[in-house]
Amino acid sequence: MRVTSVLRKLLGLCASVVICGFELTEAGGGGGRPKLVVTLRRKSGTRGRCGRCGVVAPWFDNGGGTRTWRHVDIGFATSELVSAAPRVNCPVHGPTVIEVPWARHDSWFSRAFEDVIVFDAICSNKLAVARRYAISWRAVNNACVRVATEALGRVDLLSGLVAIAIDEVKYKKGQRYLTVVCDHLTGKVIWAAKGRTKDTVNSFFDALGEERVAKLQFVTCDGAEWIRTVVQERSPGALVCLDTFHLIEWATAALDEVRREEWNHLRRTGGARAAKEFKGLRWLLLRNWENLSPKQKGTIRELEQANKRTLRAWQLKEELRDIMSMPFITACRALDDWLAYASRSRLAPFVKLARTIRHYRESIEATLEWKLTNGISESNNAAIGRIRSAARGFHDPESFITMIMLARAGIAPSLPWAN
Ligand SMILES: [Zn+2]
Repeated sequence: MRVTSVLRKLLGLCASVVICGFELTEAGGGGGRPKLVVTLRRKSGTRGRCGRCGVVAPWFDNGGGTRTWRHVDIGFATSELVSAAPRVNCPVHGPTVIEVPWARHDSWFSRAFEDVIVFDAICSNKLAVARRYAISWRAVNNACVRVATEALGRVDLLSGLVAIAIDEVKYKKGQRYLTVVCDHLTGKVIWAAKGRTKDTVNSFFDALGEERVAKLQFVTCDGAEWIRTVVQERSPGALVCLDTFHLIEWATAALDEVRREEWNHLRRTGGARAAKEFKGLRWLLLRNWENLSPKQKGTIRELEQANKRTLRAWQLKEELRDIMSMPFITACRALDDWLAYASRSRLAPFVKLARTIRHYRESIEATLEWKLTNGISESNNAAIGRIRSAARGFHDPESFITMIMLARAGIAPSLPWAN
């Protein structure tokens, strides 16, 4: 096998590229890595295309001489591609560097290397990737933006929507939020923008356009009026459903309030030890019954003796969760019973919750009837939370949005050797 054939395989270069030469530069004294420099040219006879738009265009000049692209590492060595970079005269963009098959326009990295670092950035975070490949954080960030922009230009995430979920996501301390829209059918995030106001939701409907808005049948969201009013105004044909994920969140918050009241009561009357023991229950009570160990379940049963009010609150939360997975008619009947019981429970947070649920009853029944489960929002919310904590927060909402889209909109690059 010829050396150039081996190189072509190792570097994953396509047939339309000619390897003109290669050189291995030894590592310097400072513990650097050896570098394989491969000189390339495009196959002669291929017509020059504009690097920006890909349109065939007449030759312009030789540009600024040769250019270098960092390519995927080979074992202990890093690698670099070198090639001439002539310019074509694009009818739209004017003199522009010619399109090359191994790299995206305006990048110092090859397409394959860029896909690898973006793939890694999605799995871990940009800082870890920057260290791993000895490049700057900004270079990783730019690669993410380039890959996301290219991928989003190829797909239309807003086509064929029937059921969507609109939600808010925190990106920074101090009430900084994004509005995120998911498709219930595919589970993908399809749109995200800075802010959580009526204007933000309006700009989503603007992007969707009237024709596609008319095809929307279901919109799930929480009780937020800034979402509901705009949805009712812009998409009157769609049924607004209350996301069950948020409903359970409300019940969990009510339970936590009861537990806190009881704890404060114990602290005042029952001594420090009982109060301390009770405080330890917090995380136990907030978890779902099926996720508890037998010992933890025993602790909750003991509550029956120790603290009847907290147990009643916990039962109300779990019952509501069960109702949300029942068939429609059974669920409606069970919800009537639940509301009656909660209103008479003498647990202030649950009396209030019952009032809220009555207010949103229509939206909740729509959710139950059409089985728009909370799975989508829940898994996307959790994934977005993981992205945020992996990056230790985002200062710039745009780079957060880029990472959300890369990870959750189905546009993540596959590894170059998997293509
Ligand atoms: Zn062009």
